[in-house]
Amino acid sequence: MTNPLPRLGYCSGCSEEIRLRTDGTLYQHPRYNVRCPGSRRPAALLEPTFVRWLYANAARRDGYSNRITGLAQLTFRGCTRSPNRAPADMPWTTAEGLHEDHHERLVRLSGSQDRRRTGGEHCDWVCRDVEQAGRVYAELVAAAAGRAA
Ligand SMILES: [Zn+2]
Ligand SMILES: [Zn+2]
Repeated sequence: MTNPLPRLGYCSGCSEEIRLRTDGTLYQHPRYNVRCPGSRRPAALLEPTFVRWLYANAARRDGYSNRITGLAQLTFRGCTRSPNRAPADMPWTTAEGLHEDHHERLVRLSGSQDRRRTGGEHCDWVCRDVEQAGRVYAELVAAAAGRAA
């Protein structure tokens, strides 16, 4: 599995979403540049939504060869002058939401209301990558549900 679902927990020390180790405790992480003093146990487990899954892929190094990683980096890094964004900064959580958000951005860039419509002639390569990522995510969720059952 090249882009697995993330295992995430909510840290009570810094209110951030932090990756879990295999034993269910939070990975060490900084807060204000020092080690976060929060409990090692997550305050809550977080559902690996599409937006969190995509975000978990943004740190990978295969952005040029892996379309999902590339989409994650495009989505969360923006251009080099804008700060990195996090799942909580996004107005969407699903692949469909990201697709609509992409069209909103196209409208702002081009000024053409035409491009607001998702699906079909107004879609570009980003849309196709979003749809592909949505399918991969749905398969991962189905596979995880199958293992849990
Ligand atoms: Zn923390
Ligand atoms: Zn589209």
